[in-house]
Amino acid sequence: MARFRSLRWRLTFLYLGLLAVLLLAGGVAQYYAAREVLFRTNADVLASEYSAVFTAFRKANATRPAAALRALILSQQFSNELRSRNTSAAIFDLNGGRVALTPASLGIEEVPSLTTQAYIDAARQKPKAYYLATGADGTTNYLVVLNVVRNGTRPLAIAQLAIPTAEIDQTLRADRQLAVVGSLVVLLIAGLLSPLIVARALRPLQQMSTAAGALAAGDYKQRVPVPRTHDEIGTLAAAFNSMAAGIDQAFEVRRQSEEQMRHFVADASHELRTPLTSIAGYIDVLSRRDAVDAATLQASLAAMQQESTRMTRLVNDLLTLTRFESGKATRRQLVPLDRFVGQALDELSLREKGAVESRDLQPGVTVSADPEALKQVVDNLAQNALKYAPGAEQRWSVFEADGRAAIRLADTGPGISRQDLPHIFDRFYRGEKARDRSAGGSGLGLAIARPIVEAHQGTIEAASEPGQGATFTAWLPLAA
Ligand code: ADP
Repeated sequence: MARFRSLRWRLTFLYLGLLAVLLLAGGVAQYYAAREVLFRTNADVLASEYSAVFTAFRKANATRPAAALRALILSQQFSNELRSRNTSAAIFDLNGGRVALTPASLGIEEVPSLTTQAYIDAARQKPKAYYLATGADGTTNYLVVLNVVRNGTRPLAIAQLAIPTAEIDQTLRADRQLAVVGSLVVLLIAGLLSPLIVARALRPLQQMSTAAGALAAGDYKQRVPVPRTHDEIGTLAAAFNSMAAGIDQAFEVRRQSEEQMRHFVADASHELRTPLTSIAGYIDVLSRRDAVDAATLQASLAAMQQESTRMTRLVNDLLTLTRFESGKATRRQLVPLDRFVGQALDELSLREKGAVESRDLQPGVTVSADPEALKQVVDNLAQNALKYAPGAEQRWSVFEADGRAAIRLADTGPGISRQDLPHIFDRFYRGEKARDRSAGGSGLGLAIARPIVEAHQGTIEAASEPGQGATFTAWLPLAA
């Protein structure tokens, strides 16, 4: 039973029910229309029979005086002339009294009568196209046509012609049987075909529900075929697919970011473990107290301090990274870049550290920025140039281009290899050369600079031709 509660069967039954009602209504309407047509055509025949007989009768009796003519019309003679093989004739006076009658010759003895009032009404007003009467036996029905007999305009009598409706009824009965059989055949065919048609139309829904199940079970690549019908189901299938694609993409993004997070945690742990292991080693040495002389103690403490400084820097770097990766720079103020970069470079004392420094700082380029964070960007770029382009020239510039402010550092060092260039902004990424150099950092310098610049709605880019030096440019929106 539950099976028939499915949409498929409900639609099928609804459709069949509707079809049955329409067929029934159409059949009934068709039956009454056919009946009316048949009655009217037969009535027209009777009326024209009457006209023909009456015209001939008038002609034959043209010379008679009016009174004689009237008497003849009310007599049996006129009635006899009116009747034919299966048509009975009767003459009524204007008060509805029957004055003559002639049954049909086909053994139909009876001449039907309407109510007296019907004859009186017909004489006064126009008679109806036809009347229906039941014979005295209560079963035979008659089609009756009344004609007002006139001498000029004066009504003289009412001539009634009637035929039994048996023949018409038979035609209608045959018609009705045909309609019933036809309707049943149509319903049968529709009953056989409609479940198939409905099932076909609903197939995409079935597919969608299967696909939705698979999607829920974690198969995010599930898609359904979109029917080329441009109907509601087509739209639904397309919407389903774009939803599935959205889910797929969202999960892919999540998977990737989880993977990145795993890498990050692994890298950070690894970076922290190195100084910790080192410190643990020194502690181990120092705990063997009797074997420690003053020089070893001093050296160990100095090394431990260095390791702990390195660790502190690393932890601070990680904190800065997470702070700027998760949002906007908040502590902002107007920063005139020429003065700001100049001061930062002064504090760095690059010349003392062996760099050849030059400056081209355009005045009047102002941004809205967190000075502390921005200083870290300048510091990191300068430190990198010191580390990877030692002794080279550092050309610092501040300028405005395309409606944006720029801080640029171009060095004349060895540059960055093609393999390294796409990755240098990744966390913990160290270039090939930096990896085996003790001076190399933790791979976080540029990874911190980028989120800081982006938190200011800016971008940072690196360009380098190996052997020709490296150029880093931080683009920032100008202060409004
Ligand atoms: P690190 O802590 O190693 O300095 P960064 O994120 O600051 O990490 O830099 C990533 C890598 O980019 C470095 O290991 C280095 O290979 C390369 N790099 C950065 N700046 C320069 C530069 N001025 N010249 C050449 N290579 C550079």
